[in-house]
Amino acid sequence: MIIQKRLIQITCIVVLLLITSLFGLYQIAKGAELHQRNLLHLQFTNELHEMLEQSKTTHKLDILRLKRVISDIREQPVFCIKVINFLDRSIMRIIGTEEAVELCIADVKVADDILSEIDTYNNGLLDMGEMRNRLFEAAATFEEHSASFAKPMTDTVNLIISSTFVIFISFSVIVFFLIVYAVRGISASVKSIEESSKALEESERLNRELAHFDSLTGLPNRNLFKDRLEQQTKSAVRTNKNLALLYIDIDHFKKINDSMGHYAGDDLICAASARIRSCLRDSDTVARIGGDEFNVILSELSAVRSAKLVANKILASLSEPFTLLGKKIFISGSIGISIYPNDTNNVEDLKRYADLAMYDAKDQGRNRFSYYSEDLHNQVKDKLKIEEHLRNAIEKDELFLQYQPIIELNKSQIIGAEALLRWNNAELGHVSPVNFIPIAEESRLINEIGEWTLKKACEQLCQWRKKNNPKFQLSVNVSPIQLENENFAGIVKNIMDSYQLPSDSIKIEITEGLIIEEDSTSVTTLKKLSDMGIILLLDDFGTGHSSLSYLHKLPFHVLKIDRSFVTKLDRQAVTNSIIPSIIAMAHKLNLAVIAEGVETSEGLEALLELNCEYAQGYYFDKPLNAEDIDCKKIYPGLLDEQTKKYPY
Ligand code: C2E
Ligand code: MG
Ligand code: MG
Repeated sequence: MIIQKRLIQITCIVVLLLITSLFGLYQIAKGAELHQRNLLHLQFTNELHEMLEQSKTTHKLDILRLKRVISDIREQPVFCIKVINFLDRSIMRIIGTEEAVELCIADVKVADDILSEIDTYNNGLLDMGEMRNRLFEAAATFEEHSASFAKPMTDTVNLIISSTFVIFISFSVIVFFLIVYAVRGISASVKSIEESSKALEESERLNRELAHFDSLTGLPNRNLFKDRLEQQTKSAVRTNKNLALLYIDIDHFKKINDSMGHYAGDDLICAASARIRSCLRDSDTVARIGGDEFNVILSELSAVRSAKLVANKILASLSEPFTLLGKKIFISGSIGISIYPNDTNNVEDLKRYADLAMYDAKDQGRNRFSYYSEDLHNQVKDKLKIEEHLRNAIEKDELFLQYQPIIELNKSQIIGAEALLRWNNAELGHVSPVNFIPIAEESRLINEIGEWTLKKACEQLCQWRKKNNPKFQLSVNVSPIQLENENFAGIVKNIMDSYQLPSDSIKIEITEGLIIEEDSTSVTTLKKLSDMGIILLLDDFGTGHSSLSYLHKLPFHVLKIDRSFVTKLDRQAVTNSIIPSIIAMAHKLNLAVIAEGVETSEGLEALLELNCEYAQGYYFDKPLNAEDIDCKKIYPGLLDEQTKKYPY
């Protein structure tokens, strides 16, 4: 483009240069011609003089010759007037040389006058002496005009020629610079074309790299990994050896990303990828296939169990502390393993199976590996089936609630109940909440199901409080997933308001398995619920390994000891088990205690001795249908001191 523009400019200026040159040449020729005419004028004037001198001696005037000479004289200014054009006249006016034109006009007039006087003489109306005098006068005027014409004419022509010359030189200089500029432009363009083709090559190389390598870790990405996996499976067939695919996921990576920021998260991914790489042979491939997910190909496995050794090595290396933002961070990984061709000889299935096995490792408690198996496959199929049916459970009216009484031990009286969800599906039969709640959580169906449960529980409680016991209370289990919804507290409030239930009539149970991050939405929701006056129960205490002092920072009011500790409770447990410490610690932290899963009188006796306030379990009542609940039930004499017999 630049070159084209320069060429157009150069062409225009060269054309102007040519025009100027031609104009200059034309002016030079014209100047020469005018001078020539002036000389002729002078020459004819001299001839006139000579004729007049001769006539003094011959006393004759050659009329014809006289007329011809005067006509020749006249012809010169006439020619000059014709040749001097408008432009010349304008220039002459500006520089003050227009007298040259006036002289010509005057000359012509003198010539015309004298010619008519010759005619008068010829007719005998003028005598010869008189005529000669007139002719002398005219010749003197012509001479004078000739002399006066030369200077302004020369000045004009000189000026025009020098201006043309200046213009010519200026245009030449401009053309010169334009050519230099254009040449430089052309070489710059050539250079920039070279540079852009280099940049293009570089960007193509980068694109190829991006298409195959992960920009953060430099590891092969999903695309390259796919190719490598296909190649390695083919070579496994040729060498008749096994190949293992490891699917590695960093546990709770999202929490690190959320709490320490994305840059720290990126650093962790890089450091973790380096550790994984260091556990492998050069011939093995590791690729980053997603945020915190890595795939590893262990090729030419001599024995399937070698995969287990590598998986353990990777888990051990990941469990070493990482330093992020100057802090020591501990992480773990979950690994799924599938084997080619033992598990499948289809590459896509191999990836899917490793993924399934990885989720199994997570379900098993993380920081471990799982091999893909037929059983796992069936489990996943069952899970998908459950999820599919669960989606329509509310619509098909398959869900219902049972209620298990909660007893205030020192009054031997029911104070409320725990609402427990039940699902009876036409095809699957009765499905335990232990099986379907985790699936509902994973698929997020729990939000809808949880809301349904809360509404049903409130509806039932409303009836009991109106008809049977106005102080009756209900505990409702709430999933950690529901707490992550920042509108959850509002949803609870709306439902309770719609049944006009006071805030202390519904209690919410949250399982201890939930690891609650400080400043998370879940904590905010818990605080909002507590501020609304809702009592919060920490369910299944003892299973989540949380520190009691940390949990005390959260707004819980009651602690429910997990039934796994309670069912096997006996008299010895009062001194031997962990239960006394839990109850004592809870009381110190001003938390009331409910023991769930009380099945035996020995257990109950131990709990009474340890000052546990509330209990729940098959010993008192199993979960019952609403109509079977006695809202004022008194459990006669929990411990009969005399007989040491227990009534249940
Ligand atoms: P959970 O909240 O700890 O509920 C207590 C579980 O212990 C109930 O099992 C109950 O039937 C059982 N149980 C009560 N007394 C005894 C006893 O003496 N011995 C034995 N062995 N078991 C006893 P269930 O109903 O199968 O519920 C299991 C879990 O499912 C619940 O544990 C809770 O975590 C979850 N769940 C139940 N309903 C809901 C719900 O509506 N929402 C949510 N998110 N989870 C629920
Ligand atoms: Mg519960
Ligand atoms: Mg429980």
